[in-house]
Amino acid sequence: EPNGTDPVQGWIPQGIDVTRPSIARVYDAALGGKDNFEVDRQAAAQLFARVPDIREGALENRRILSRGVKFLVEQGIDQFLDLGSGLPSAENTHQVAQRHNPDASVVYVDIDPIVLAHGRAILAENSRTRVVTADAREPKAVLNLPEVRELIDFSRPVALMMVAIVHHMADDDDPAGIVRAYLDALPSGSYLFLTHFHANGSPEATAVEEELHGAHDSGRFRSREEIEAFFGGLEVVEPGIVTVPYWRPDGAVAEPLTPAQKLLLGGIARKA
Ligand code: SAM
Repeated sequence: EPNGTDPVQGWIPQGIDVTRPSIARVYDAALGGKDNFEVDRQAAAQLFARVPDIREGALENRRILSRGVKFLVEQGIDQFLDLGSGLPSAENTHQVAQRHNPDASVVYVDIDPIVLAHGRAILAENSRTRVVTADAREPKAVLNLPEVRELIDFSRPVALMMVAIVHHMADDDDPAGIVRAYLDALPSGSYLFLTHFHANGSPEATAVEEELHGAHDSGRFRSREEIEAFFGGLEVVEPGIVTVPYWRPDGAVAEPLTPAQKLLLGGIARKA
């Protein structure tokens, strides 16, 4: 049931707060999507004003997501728990995974109800995919969601995806403890796939961090050491934890990378 209209989005799903920007919707706007509202486009415009090619940075994150999911299917993974999945965009986890293995299961979890509002429409026909609204900072609750229990068999390896979500967790949330709590629930042979904003000292990194704080009171860029710590105790696969365009690129990487392309570090690691 719509509760209003928006000139770009058309309809406003019920229960959606359009007076404040949301991370999912601003990211969608940065990617050039249409599932966002005026307040989100304004926040995105401020990002574009400071980092004109920010879209390329967001696209690099979507590209590693797609390459990473394909890699995970090639390792035999057919169950994906995608935390902070975001609004449907091009090449979503279930599309990539199910293209390579039609039997793959995907549970999308996002704190923002807008994701469910759009995801439900897209996924209604797909019995191997679920979308749930939940806070990923509560591993016990998420791991016990009926949708998760229905589609994911915890006696077999799982891919835990935390792609561009952990930098929205504050230090007080204990993000390392959260990642560990999920991994502890997964059997040997499972994988962690994580990307994260990198505090690399560039003016662009500072600008994005400031804008996220202004718009969302969220967004913690972390050092390489802090990001590597999330992978502690796991076997990191080649080429390691790298600036995302360098993670198993499909072809030669066009250099030099722009600062926006260098905003995130990411990698995949296996639980022994
Ligand atoms: N994973 C997608 C990707 O990489 O393209 C989307 C990333 S988007 C930058 C971050 C998403 O994380 C948003 O959709 C936001 O709503 C979600 N998010 C932030 N904090 C969260 C939390 N505590 N629990 C669940 N989702 C969260």
